Formats: sequence, structure tokens, C-alpha cells
Amino acid sequence: MRSAQRRALGAASVAVLIACTVTPPAHAESASLERFDTVVVDAGHGGDDEGARGAHGIVEKELVLDVAKRLRARLQEAGLEVVLTRDRDVYVPLEQRTDIANRARGDLFLSIHANAASAREARGIETFFLSLEASDDDARQVAARENAAFRDLAVPVVAEDDPLVAILGDLAAAELLQESDAFARLAQREVSALNGSPSRGVKQAPFVVLMGLEMPAVLVEIGFVTNPDEAHELASEGQRDRIAEALARAALEFRRRYDARRGLAAPAPEPAAPDRMGEGGG
Ligand SMILES: [Zn+2]
Repeated sequence: MRSAQRRALGAASVAVLIACTVTPPAHAESASLERFDTVVVDAGHGGDDEGARGAHGIVEKELVLDVAKRLRARLQEAGLEVVLTRDRDVYVPLEQRTDIANRARGDLFLSIHANAASAREARGIETFFLSLEASDDDARQVAARENAAFRDLAVPVVAEDDPLVAILGDLAAAELLQESDAFARLAQREVSALNGSPSRGVKQAPFVVLMGLEMPAVLVEIGFVTNPDEAHELASEGQRDRIAEALARAALEFRRRYDARRGLAAPAPEPAAPDRMGEGGG
């Protein structure tokens, strides 16, 4: 287990927590000069790990890779570096995805998945960020399914008596969780505003792929492939584009806030495209 993972997961003493809250980390100053420039986009599953299978022939690993590539294109257009943890149909172990993201020094990690349920009527969008305790039974089940590829390690169990202290073990982890929460809300708002899919809210659960990341991280479930109506939508290119655009809007708003907090002005806006001239010109 990597040290960052241990830091996020390992039980930490209250003393450490208190010490960290009164002493800013030494790297705070240099970090403040860093502009938000890299997004890591993680298409769930791949290779033998197909993820969920649903109506209209949808296979989760194919759907989420397609959406991830569409998202990459939009973020690149906005001037961001984008790293995909996989760009083809290949199995990438969950811990390797974390390594890829940390090595790329990503400013944001966005894992894209699709939901499944035995009840065909289950539908909607939900966004997760990390915790050791699932926020409800549904969240626990989603995490169990998405962690299924990670067979080497059962879902980590940390000191049950005080999981909060464990996860807030240092200031950096607490800050990352706060930022993850903020981005989860942005992403959830944008994607669930798209169409008739209800918002199932922002939730927390112990997703292996979100552990040990040194950047804010969320996992978005973009709809239920087991719901015939949502599967029909998800099968269309138009809907995949709209989801990618919604996620890009959320990431760009997160970038704006991130840079503003560090006193960095937003990058200069793109010049108006010629085809937009004359709009509203009377
Ligand atoms: Zn999945």
C-alpha cells in the first residue's frame, strides 16, 4: 500500500489531527502558485472487467470510455491537459489508475461509471466521493460492485471506533475531501440537470479507485444501464455528448474557483467564434 493511501486510510491519532490544523503544511506556499491545468479522466472497467451490462446492448466499459474520450476533447479545447487512465479496451488495475493520476500530478480526478440494479425502474444520476463508511445501503452496494475488480484486497477496514479521525488524519486529506465534495456537487448538478433523469444526490462510499489520490476525486454514475429509458438515452451519441459537456462545465467551474482561491486570474477567454457573430445583433 502506498504511503498516501496509508495516510488517507490509516488510523491517525487525534494529536496529529490537532497539530495539523494549527500548522499549515510546508508546501502550502509553493502549491498556491500552481495553476489548475491537469484533469485525470478515468473510464471505469475495461478488458475482462466489463462492468454492468444493460438494455440496448450497452456494456458499461464501452459506454464510459466513449464518454471519457468526449470529455477529454472538451477539456482539451478549454486548454487543459487531460490524462486518461485508459484510452482503449484494456484492463487497468484500480491501484494502477491511482498511480497514473498521481504521477501526472492531476488537479482533479474524475471517474466515470454507469449504474446497474436488479430493479429495472431504478434510475438517476449519482456522484460519489470517498469515505470509509458508505452514506447508505445503496451507496455501499454501488461501491461493492465498482470495487469487484479489485480482488486483492477486501474493502479496507480501519479503526471502526473512529473512522472520522482516521480519514481526516491530516490536513491535506481533509482539504482534498472538502474539494472533492465541492466538485461532486458541481458535477452532480450539471449532469442531473440534463434531462428527465432524477438526481440521486451526492453520496460517499469506500471506492478503491478514489483511495490514495493526491487530488480531489469523484466518481460519477451517469445513469442506469439496467433502466430501459436511461439505457435508450445512454445509447445515443447526443446524450453522451451532453454528459461530456456537463462534466466539462463542472470541471471548468472547479478550475475557476481553484485558480481564484490562489489569486490566479482565469485564462483569457477564447475569441468569439465567427459563427456566433451577429447573434442578438437585432
Ligand atoms: Zn462501474
